[in-house]
Amino acid sequence: MLRLMRKHRSLAASLGLILLFTPVIAGCNATSSDSLDSAPASGLSNQVESCALLFPQAKEIPVADYIHALEEKALMVYGNQTYSYVSPEGNVAKNGPYATWFIEMFLNDVSTSYPSSFDSFKLGDDWLLAKDYRSYAAEVCSGHSNGASPRNARIAFEKFMHQSTDWSGHASRWESFPYIETGAEVIAAPSPVGLEHYTKYITGAGVIFVGGAAVPDASMLAARESIIYLTSARPEFRKILKENEVRISMFAADDTSVLPEYADEHEPGGFAMGMTDASMTANANWLCYPGNWDGGGNTVIHEMVHTINHVVFEQLNETYFYERVFDLAVKAIEDGVFGTAFSQNLGEGQTQGMPEYVGEYWAMTVEGYIMNRPGFKDTHDTREWIAENDPELLQLIQRYFPSTEWEYCPGYEDHS
Ligand SMILES: [Zn+2]
Repeated sequence: MLRLMRKHRSLAASLGLILLFTPVIAGCNATSSDSLDSAPASGLSNQVESCALLFPQAKEIPVADYIHALEEKALMVYGNQTYSYVSPEGNVAKNGPYATWFIEMFLNDVSTSYPSSFDSFKLGDDWLLAKDYRSYAAEVCSGHSNGASPRNARIAFEKFMHQSTDWSGHASRWESFPYIETGAEVIAAPSPVGLEHYTKYITGAGVIFVGGAAVPDASMLAARESIIYLTSARPEFRKILKENEVRISMFAADDTSVLPEYADEHEPGGFAMGMTDASMTANANWLCYPGNWDGGGNTVIHEMVHTINHVVFEQLNETYFYERVFDLAVKAIEDGVFGTAFSQNLGEGQTQGMPEYVGEYWAMTVEGYIMNRPGFKDTHDTREWIAENDPELLQLIQRYFPSTEWEYCPGYEDHS
């Protein structure tokens, strides 16, 4: 079955990367036509107060130097392949604590420097604004003081530098839903302006689930229950999911283009949420619940496993995971243990190869482990099978996910 990340966007292409584990960054035009025009300066210092209190030693540097250095530092983080898989052809499946690395870079930035006075600065085709710089610096410094998640600082950084913000699903383009405890009850969605499409709402495990009128309540209840189970061994994951405003945009249609945030995305199953995205997506018709006895993969579980990588593991700097998962994937693929007959909805010009298989291994195997239903996946469909055929993987899965009994889609046998 098709289970997929969203298509890859432009910085990836320009760097020759295939980005599977991290949200893709677009629009960072590092080379060519940087015309260094800057509009008249306001005459005020750009160091924001919260940063000045923390980092009085930071030095003012000319805005052009500052912005080019910042862009360079960001490219270094994006290009960090410490934990990535690189194929013999040079294709890359990314993996690593990018959120942690970005925060380290941001702190290094604001603690050592700030730009000289400017109102706006032209970088490539984009005008970077001083007010967006100040928001970025303020999020970094206040977030550092408050122990906040890296999300708001990264969103503000990308907004300032115009990175990924041309993508409709970028979090800077949408207001957040409030988090309301609902218990196991679908309620009327408290939708912000622009997201009135969503009329149904439920929460659980720190995650917000929203759907339009076509999404059955039963699918949302089943999705919620599966994420509560998925996160039951590590309740601290729920806190991180909640503080990063993780939301699942559910749909019951051919593809994601029915959703307001993703009108140009035609992903049939769904895609994961990166730390600066508005939400992840999942097709309710691909779930198993009373009235829809679908015996196959589960897109909510699968995409949430990717989302936990992007949001939770990246924030926790979970190097134990990064150091092991791709080695296990390569071994399972080379030994023929991991089924590679699945198909992916790839970007134009991309073909499925080792980086795609390596990038999907963890989400597909955890999905099978959690459902624990013979035949619902081609391989890794039950815990018993994984214990016998991929025992080191079982240990890694059980480090993060529950080993308690759970029945996925009770009633399936009576209706299939
Ligand atoms: Zn996937």
